Amino acid sequence: MSDGRQDAIARAWEEVVATARRTREEGLVVGTSGNVSARVGDIVLVTPTGVPYDRLGPGDAVGVDLEGRQVLGGLVPTSELPLHLAVYRGSGARAVVHTHAVHATAVSTLVPEVPLVHYAAALLGGPVRTAPYARYGTQELADHMLAALRDRTGCLLRNHGTVTYGDSLDEAYDRTAQLEWMCRVWLTASSVPGHSPTLLTPGQLRDVQEALEGYGQPG
Ligand code: 13P
Ligand code: ZN
Repeated sequence: MSDGRQDAIARAWEEVVATARRTREEGLVVGTSGNVSARVGDIVLVTPTGVPYDRLGPGDAVGVDLEGRQVLGGLVPTSELPLHLAVYRGSGARAVVHTHAVHATAVSTLVPEVPLVHYAAALLGGPVRTAPYARYGTQELADHMLAALRDRTGCLLRNHGTVTYGDSLDEAYDRTAQLEWMCRVWLTASSVPGHSPTLLTPGQLRDVQEALEGYGQPG
């Protein structure tokens, strides 16, 4: 392997570990729940299964190819490998974040789609769907997730948690944080007795999607 490629992998692994730690520090997972991955060329770096994120160092990188064959490291990859690989095979994603964020997980038990309480849904490509339940770590769960992700960059997994992806780990992480926040808003608004939240129309959301194309600083 060339030095440049080795450097790129080392940098990406550092980011994978930093992102996984952030999910725990910011309350999106408890213990070793959730997992994080990033793609560097034809290698996917993934968190190992069942290892506390603060124990991971630069020498612990775990990498697989797109068929799931381990090509890097000695630790066993995350049990959700089928889910991560399904995202990379089905999109141009560079990073995937899976969490058990509390409000999003609560909402996953209640509705097939997150009600449009806020335009933040546009950041995930539209109304966020809930994938039907299947056991963690299964291809069946990965298949349900892929269907729920159609034209979206995130979804809920029923009675389980969240999955988002992006062009970078920061983007994937931010989408998880926005999804969790939006679920919290819906739960908060819908728990006021005698009231139910107003919702955006699909037309209002499309309007936001167009406006967001010009959002942020130029360049
Ligand atoms: P891993 O420790 O195998 O990544 O599993 C955590 C998880 O969230 C399974 O859904
Ligand atoms: Zn999980």
